[in-house]
Amino acid sequence: MAGGVAPRFIGKSRVRRLCAVCRRMPGYETLPLRMHRRLRVVVRGYSLPIFDMSRSLSDQPTRLSQLSELQNELAAASVRSIFVVADAVAFRESGAADFVQRIAASHAQVTLFQDFQANPQLEDAVHAASAFANSDADVIVAVGGGSAIDIAKLARSIATDNTLAFQQIRGTQSWQPDGRPFWAVPTTSGSGSEATQFAVVYAQGQKYSLSHPGLRANLVVLDAELTMSCPPRLTASCGLDALCQAVESMWSNQATEDSVIDAEQALRLAFSSLRQAVHAPNKQVRQAMIEAAHLAGRAIQVSKTTAPHALSYYLTSQFGIPHGFAVATNLVRCLSFNAEVSEQNLNEDRGLTHVRQQIQRIVEACGAATLTEAAERLNSLIVDVGGQTSIVGWDISNDQIPAIAASVNVQRLQNNPRKATSADLIRLLSD
Ligand SMILES: [Zn+2]
Repeated sequence: MAGGVAPRFIGKSRVRRLCAVCRRMPGYETLPLRMHRRLRVVVRGYSLPIFDMSRSLSDQPTRLSQLSELQNELAAASVRSIFVVADAVAFRESGAADFVQRIAASHAQVTLFQDFQANPQLEDAVHAASAFANSDADVIVAVGGGSAIDIAKLARSIATDNTLAFQQIRGTQSWQPDGRPFWAVPTTSGSGSEATQFAVVYAQGQKYSLSHPGLRANLVVLDAELTMSCPPRLTASCGLDALCQAVESMWSNQATEDSVIDAEQALRLAFSSLRQAVHAPNKQVRQAMIEAAHLAGRAIQVSKTTAPHALSYYLTSQFGIPHGFAVATNLVRCLSFNAEVSEQNLNEDRGLTHVRQQIQRIVEACGAATLTEAAERLNSLIVDVGGQTSIVGWDISNDQIPAIAASVNVQRLQNNPRKATSADLIRLLSD
């Protein structure tokens, strides 16, 4: 796909009307106030002025924008050539392809990279890095779910040589993200990868994670329109991932007061909107979910994930359970487990009272009065959107429990507010 005529503006005007309430987000002045309150939360922390030229690009806070603003963003940044990393199906179905074609025809040269699988493999990332290095792009734009966004992050970071790239992801060779702007346009509401500085990549059957402040997107387009074609099961899996990330982030022993505020808002949005986003979607609930996923991503960027994620990877790698469903399987079991924390097994420097307060905030964010009620509400939501609340529900035999307990990612478990021995995990999975 290529175009390449002089940039020009499409649409009514370049004048951006700022929101009458928060005076920040352009284009949101027509939204109902209820919707706007949510947006204000998302906007918090991204306050204007947008760019401080004394800081490098990677130090800048992520900015939020809308699809309808993207043409103006490209023009404002004097972009003439764009490298687009796009998930092929999401790109076509979400309507983003039409949009990028319009950009290519009217605005700038577009190089499209779509040659990668879900759960990014190192070879795909190396191809993407080569294609990006050979392009003269001014900006790299990821369009799709977590995989597309991760491939774009990797394309900016790793070598174009397989051997060297493998050493880089293993941490035996240094690497540095490319300095050109990185924009993310999520088409699913789940991983929140557009809000984090992490990139996941698989090599030789192993999962590796890169982390660098320069991997954060400089600009994120959060537009429910792009998620409207997302099918129910994918919406459910992604939405459960966001919901679990929000809950885990709230009780994580690395959480800060700011990250908890993001996570709590993410949980409220996801809890109240996920069921309808799966079964009877409209733009309002899908917008709530895309914002929930983004806020949860921002929160785990700080707090990292905990026990439910630690227990999920084996369920995905061995039994093919989609990530969000795998994480949700043990969410409520972990909620009960963490609620019973004591001085003997406390893993949180801020003390027992702190952990109990966080659990209470989770209960309230689910609209419940008691832990039991919150557990019932969460379990019923997980089942209603197609999930399971035990491994047996996925037709996995109880014989597998020791293997699942042995497989846990110890690093993730260290963020959990209650210490968990192998015997604890076996009991948790068996109950
Ligand atoms: Zn996750």
